[in-house]
Amino acid sequence: MSATAPRVPINDLGRALTEESAEITAALSRVLASGWLVHGPEHTAFESELAAYLGAGRVLGVASGTDALEIALRAVTDPARPVVVTAANCGGYTTTAARRAGLTPRYADVDPETHLLTAATVEPVLDERVGTVVVTHLYGRAADVAPLRELCAARGIRLLEDCAQSAGARTGEGMAGALADVATFSFYPTKNLGAIGDGGAIATSDPAVAERVARLRQYGWSGKYQIAEDGGRNSRLDELQAAVLRTRLARLDAGNARRRAIVAHYAERASERVHVLPADGDGHVGHLAVLTTPDRDALREHLAADGIGHDVHYPVPDHHQPAFAAEYAGTVLPVTERLAAEVLSVPCFPELTDDEVARVGDALARF
Ligand SMILES: *Cc1c(COP(=O)(O)O)cnc(C)c1O
Repeated sequence: MSATAPRVPINDLGRALTEESAEITAALSRVLASGWLVHGPEHTAFESELAAYLGAGRVLGVASGTDALEIALRAVTDPARPVVVTAANCGGYTTTAARRAGLTPRYADVDPETHLLTAATVEPVLDERVGTVVVTHLYGRAADVAPLRELCAARGIRLLEDCAQSAGARTGEGMAGALADVATFSFYPTKNLGAIGDGGAIATSDPAVAERVARLRQYGWSGKYQIAEDGGRNSRLDELQAAVLRTRLARLDAGNARRRAIVAHYAERASERVHVLPADGDGHVGHLAVLTTPDRDALREHLAADGIGHDVHYPVPDHHQPAFAAEYAGTVLPVTERLAAEVLSVPCFPELTDDEVARVGDALARF
């Protein structure tokens, strides 16, 4: 590739904004004309449209994916069982949220093929102090939730799905986000369903959980100026974001199909030194195109020389994060630790051109 070929970016949010400019402008104008800025008609409509799409009883908008995790954890976790079991390879969001909720993260290792929690990896770390298990559908791949649900239900443990990376993933028993006690979403702009700023949501089919979330997201109020629930916050999804998310929900399935096709192309082209994690079928929405290689530094140099963007999701497992590594001196997660040194993400977003996808494929083939 010539040194002057334009870079293939790891992401470029401007492309979708340009393509969707007319409908986004119309959505924003509709909000400004309405005079409603928070918790108005767009918010209500988005909540019911996302609930219908997921097949979930109710969706509640909040201000970010991390807020969604914190509020959902508070809503479902028995304070007498304050340990939250999760994976350490998912970017630290659950850890941040659990700690803010006054809970204690504990880590289970992941499956070496899928990089996800399974009932077999979770079971050994469960005890009577565990109140909630958080399963993240990492990179866009829906985890096998049914065995986890059984495992948790038998022990009185709540199960939460983190769907920040998996909006639109479909499994045999329903959509990611409708498979456990409660689920959380992020609408950070790079997510498959992205806002034009921050946003998040909580989905649940348990009316008692929905009621607690509705209070916790707005000061603990049962109604205006009545604080019925301690530990409340202010975490709202505003009307402008909700209006844009409504237009983008309609595009989600097409964008996810394009992402899957991009990952499939990389998998087909990659050399033997590279293993591209497959994103086949409706259970994977291709949030990230992730590969593993024992020669990551060499691959990074090779891609950089070709002007191809890349990143590591995620380089530091949660139990090694400097802020709390000391608390986890006894935690050893062999698979998680090995994968953190081998994973690499390459460009994957629906607006990549065919030519750019081919350039990334060529670079992976020549490695
Ligand atoms: C992005 C992300 C979050 C956090 O979402 P924010 O909206 O940035 O707070 C949580 N979990 C996962 C897996 C994510 O990818």
